[in-house]
Amino acid sequence: MQPDLKGIKVAVLGGDAREIVLVSTLSRLGAYVKVLGLPINSDPPHITICGNLEEALADVQAVILPVPGLLEKGNIYCVYEDKPLVLTEALLVKLPPQTPVFAGFARPKLKEIVQRSNLKLIQVLSLDEVAILNSIPSAEGAVQMAMENTAITIHNSKSFVLGFGRTGASIARLLHGMGARVTVVARSAAHRARVYEMGMEAVSFDELPDAIAKAEIIFNTVPKMVLTNCILNKVKEDAVIIDVASPPGGTDFDAAARLSIKALLAPGLPGKVAPKTAGRILAKVIPNLLAQELQRNDGTVGTA
Ligand code: NAP
Repeated sequence: MQPDLKGIKVAVLGGDAREIVLVSTLSRLGAYVKVLGLPINSDPPHITICGNLEEALADVQAVILPVPGLLEKGNIYCVYEDKPLVLTEALLVKLPPQTPVFAGFARPKLKEIVQRSNLKLIQVLSLDEVAILNSIPSAEGAVQMAMENTAITIHNSKSFVLGFGRTGASIARLLHGMGARVTVVARSAAHRARVYEMGMEAVSFDELPDAIAKAEIIFNTVPKMVLTNCILNKVKEDAVIIDVASPPGGTDFDAAARLSIKALLAPGLPGKVAPKTAGRILAKVIPNLLAQELQRNDGTVGTA
C-alpha cells in the first residue's frame, strides 16, 4: 500500500530516468515536488521546476538525491544537466535538523556534509528490500554483458559466481536457469549448503585457486580484492570477468590486463539496462520511507 503524501514538500535533485519515474509517483501520491536537473515539465500537479539548488531546497521537508548521490567532486549525479550541480554544506545547513536526505549510496563527501549539517542520511541501496529487488536488473545486466563479451553461450558454460549475497544469489540463479554449469564461491558454509541444495556446485575461497582454472565466465560480487594476481594467474586466458562489485571492484585489473584476460567493471547496471524497472523499485520504496521518516518527525502522514 502506498502512503498518502499530501502536502509533503520534497526536493528531487538530479539523477536519470529512474528519478523521472519517482517524481511522477511522488506527485501522484500528493507530495509537492521541487525538481532540479530532470527533463520534466511542470504540468503534472504539485511539480515545480527549479532553476538552482537554493530554490529547490527552500522550505522542503526531505531531499532525494540520485542513486549514486554525489560524485567525487561533490557534484550531484545528473545525466540531463551539463552544468555541475554542486551540493555544499552551506546549502544543507539551512534545512531543519534531521531532515531526511535519501541517496542510493553515499560516498565519503556526501556522508561528511550531511553529518556536519545535522541531517539524516538514508542510503536506500543498503536496505534488503531495495537491494534484493535491484539484484534482478543487476543480474540480467551482468549476464547481458557476459553474452556480449564471450563467443560461447551461457548454456553449458562453466560460470563462476563469487559471493552469494543479494546480487550473487540472483546472478547464480539466473545462470542456473539458463543451463550454465554454475560454481558459486562463498565463504559461508551455510551459503555453500544452500548453493548445493539449489543444484549448483559450491566452493570456499580456500578452494578457489584450484577450482578457478576451469572457469569460462567469472562474475564477481564481492566488494573486496578477491581476484588477485595470484588467482588470475590460474584463470584461462580466454575467460571473461564481469566485476559487478562497486568500484574499484574485486579484481586486480592491472594484473588481468597484463595476463590478457578480459576483465570488465560493471557499475550501475540497473540504471543502464532497465531504468524503468529500477525507477519503479525506487518509486515503490522511497514513498514509504519518506512517510515513515516524516511521521517520526511530526506524525502528519497517513495511508492512502
Ligand atoms: P551483499 O548482499 O552484502 O553480498 C556481498 C557478498 O560478498 C556476500 O556473499 C559476502 O559474504 C561476500 N563478501 C564480502 N566480503 C567478503 C570477503 N572479504 N571475502 C569473501 N566474501 C566476502 O551485497 P550485494 O547487495 O550483493 O552487493 C555486492 C556488491 O555489488 C556491492 O559492492 C554492491 O555495491 C554491488 N552492486 C553493484 C551493482 C551494479 O550495478 N554493478 C548492483 C548491485 C550491487 P558473506 O555473506 O559471508 O558476508
